[in-house]
Amino acid sequence: MTGIKCLVCVKQVIDYSVKVRVKSDGSGVETDQVKLSMNPFDEIAVEEAVRQKEAGLLNEILAVSIGPLRAQETLRVALARGADKAILIQTEEALPPISVAKILKNIVASENPELILMGKQAIDDDCNQTGQMLAALLGWPQGTFASQLTVNINDKTVKVTREVDGGLETLSLSLPAVITTDLRLNEPRYLALPNVMRAKSKPLTVKPLAELNIPLKKHIDILTVEAPSNERQGLILNSVEALIDKLKNVDKVI
Ligand code: AMP
Repeated sequence: MTGIKCLVCVKQVIDYSVKVRVKSDGSGVETDQVKLSMNPFDEIAVEEAVRQKEAGLLNEILAVSIGPLRAQETLRVALARGADKAILIQTEEALPPISVAKILKNIVASENPELILMGKQAIDDDCNQTGQMLAALLGWPQGTFASQLTVNINDKTVKVTREVDGGLETLSLSLPAVITTDLRLNEPRYLALPNVMRAKSKPLTVKPLAELNIPLKKHIDILTVEAPSNERQGLILNSVEALIDKLKNVDKVI
């Protein structure tokens, strides 16, 4: 079979449409009884992998998630979107990017992908770190915030266009490489019901994190999580003159 193997990372996060509630003890946000979905940038990563496979450039797409058992639902969505197989590294602990990157490095060593596609950022922690850390740990080139990808399996390179301040930058990376996806890379397609049904019989392996024996250190403690303040209130003004007056004295209004 021609083409290369691609590992695509998918994180289960609180759905973007949910109004997030902070726990009363300030230790984090409520996830019980809350709708969880695939991180939107990871949906773009999966879609890109599927498009590259449809173009004959990939021979296999492995979706990987690190999280609790219910993250299997998100992996099933990746399978329905076109991934061939999936691995969940099961842990109940919310891990920081450096730990996730170390676990992914371990999976790379056993699965040998030549291309890693992941989101530029998870919308729950907004870290934008995991891809960069993984590339550094592997010693692989990285193309971050990709808005266009061209894989060349003959000379084993990938061209990555990145949206940078004031324009577009195009890089050529030698494979294996880590690519993180930006919003404009593609528009994920509609999930068709027959594919959801088919995904149920695709292989999904669950491995407890402890079985991998990866030494993970805790470097950061979250001290508090606070909801945004609701103190700013609207004002109803009766005339344009009153509005102009308020704007002139804006620091007294806010
Ligand atoms: P972050 O650095 O946390 O903003 O995450 C960037 C990207 O890393 C995400 O879009 C995912 O593709 C990947 N990633 C982060 N955490 C996980 C996880 N627990 N499981 C799978 N992929 C992850």
